[in-house]
Amino acid sequence: MSGFVDKPVPVAVPGLTHLHTGKVRDLYATADGDLVMVASDRVSAYDWVLPTEIPGKGRLLTQLSLWWFERLADLVPNHVLSDIPPPGAPGDWTGRTLVCRNLDMVPVECVARGYLTGSGLAEYERSGTVCGISLPEGLVDGSRLDRPIFTPAVKAEVGEHDENVSYAAVAAQHGAELAAELRERTLEIYARGRDIAEQRGILLADTKFEFGRDPNGALVLADEVFTPDSSRFWPADAWDPGRAQPSFDKQFIRDWLASPESGWDRTADTPPPPLPANVVERTHAKYVEVYERLTGEKSRLA
Ligand code: ATP
Ligand code: MG
Repeated sequence: MSGFVDKPVPVAVPGLTHLHTGKVRDLYATADGDLVMVASDRVSAYDWVLPTEIPGKGRLLTQLSLWWFERLADLVPNHVLSDIPPPGAPGDWTGRTLVCRNLDMVPVECVARGYLTGSGLAEYERSGTVCGISLPEGLVDGSRLDRPIFTPAVKAEVGEHDENVSYAAVAAQHGAELAAELRERTLEIYARGRDIAEQRGILLADTKFEFGRDPNGALVLADEVFTPDSSRFWPADAWDPGRAQPSFDKQFIRDWLASPESGWDRTADTPPPPLPANVVERTHAKYVEVYERLTGEKSRLA
């Protein structure tokens, strides 16, 4: 079992239509047809949206995403129109809301990997490949790849894992031209992000982008970009291939949930328990740290 422990109720705002409640973000449409993305403080682990929130997370991730969109603007247009919540929105939406162009989304999760871990590692251990791409022998959890790879996936419902697919499958479904453009864009944007993060002592192990098309057919970077929810960030000074790397965000949550102290059996069909205050505090501190290290700015949200 997986999914939400407590399904969130959408906020009613005059003039906005609720579209979707994601694991972490809530989506609304304005009367003009623009998209309003509101990042909550919800956090997921082991395929569950936990019953405890991390206060400030939604704002930190929204501000981080905005920071990155600006640093990528010369490479790729993005969907952000404004970070000012629509009139009538709750005060709590400030800092966590992005008004975006409502795009015709390309239904491919565009993943770039510069290091081997997670579902990529699992496929490699079975077959020596990731999304059909052959990799050299002898790689282990956390190995750096000689060249970053494009490993697309298709989206699953809440509680299900996204499914890795081959480049050929993307080309067969969406055409060779679009597949090539997605791969090129994905690797180019990832390279920029990885270089910037590396200068700040953070390894950007892998990441996921989503693209949409504007009415002229141009490809636009959508969704969120280089946040801890869409990317794996590892502290460079602790990088040690051959084991699971410490992550910059949910490490304390995963460790605590897996420990006897939580009393939770992941393999049983029961929802995870609420997080204790110290796990919430330490996780919050990690989000602040990754924000401040990447942007070089003191978070005003801490
Ligand atoms: P999760 O990412 O938690 O697995 P989810 O994808 O259903 O679940 P969110 O990521 O919170 O939930 O929802 C964002 C949704 O908005 C995604 O379906 C994404 O494809 C879509 N989206 C993002 N940017 C745009 C955009 N500019 N135009 C239209 N849809 C967008
Ligand atoms: Mg999503």
